[in-house]
Amino acid sequence: GGLLDQLTFSGGKIVRNRSVVHAVNDVSLDIMAGETLSVVGESGCGKSTLARVVIGLYPPTSGEIYYRDQRIDNLQGTKRRPFRTKAQMVFQDPYASLNPRMRVRQILEEPVRFHKPELSDAQVREKVAEVMEQVGINPQWAERYPHEFSGGQRQRISIARALVLDPEFIVADEPISALDVSIQAQVLNLMMDLQEQRNLTYLFISHDLSVVEHISDRVAVLYLGSLCELATSKELFENPQHPYTRALLSAIPRIGKGFQHLKLTGDVPTPINLPSGCVFHGRCPYAQERCMKEVPVARTLESGTVVACHGVEEGRL
Ligand code: SF4
Ligand code: MG
Repeated sequence: GGLLDQLTFSGGKIVRNRSVVHAVNDVSLDIMAGETLSVVGESGCGKSTLARVVIGLYPPTSGEIYYRDQRIDNLQGTKRRPFRTKAQMVFQDPYASLNPRMRVRQILEEPVRFHKPELSDAQVREKVAEVMEQVGINPQWAERYPHEFSGGQRQRISIARALVLDPEFIVADEPISALDVSIQAQVLNLMMDLQEQRNLTYLFISHDLSVVEHISDRVAVLYLGSLCELATSKELFENPQHPYTRALLSAIPRIGKGFQHLKLTGDVPTPINLPSGCVFHGRCPYAQERCMKEVPVARTLESGTVVACHGVEEGRL
């Protein structure tokens, strides 16, 4: 079974700033142990919200989250704690996510002392030195503050903080996109090495499809909080089905050559007033009347790809 079975948000509503944002609708994902599942889409598509709902930073207002067959979204406080050590998040911005007033040692020790109070000081120190070593930061620098490190080093420290509780599952929200292009590959390779060494499961949030192609077992494409397509990385890049997926791919010169170029015009509409029918219809060159009225249902094709599109279903794409 899945690591997160039936990660389902049916009509999920996230309430923020008193407006109801339909951030994640009808997204049903099963994440398998040891895999990298990437979630892609333009900004505003609900990727970050999905990540935060999965990790428990935002509650889903409908839908359910299961972790190894246990429902976790309705657990409160201490009942939720075991899951909180198993799942950790790496954020986009290592500048904002590390407390500037804390030394690296404190940043890394804090979660261990909270979640594993039975460990001695010496054991905690050992744990911290071990993760620093693993992410390529000299443990002798533990007394330094975040500002004394480069952006890439800070993201390595964020990764160390995520690892210090020995999680099984990491949600990474655009973990390299705030970094200098020259060091993005290093941090990505580090994450891939750590996945292998520690048998980690990744939910990887990204807008960068060339990165996603390189690292993913499967890819979910979101648009305005709706799942457009879910496929193995190979199928998605060789045989994309949904018009939105094709549009995203056709924007990448190396990959998009074989596809009819679909230019995405207009901005992503605000998720507060979702379009009727298919949420992509306003930007889709294949939209027909049915698309404006009827929400397309996600269907599984023979290839295993899941796609929600009337045009695909009708065989006219
Ligand atoms: Fe385009 Fe219609 Fe498919 Fe939506 S359902 S992507 S509007 S063809
Ligand atoms: Mg985001």
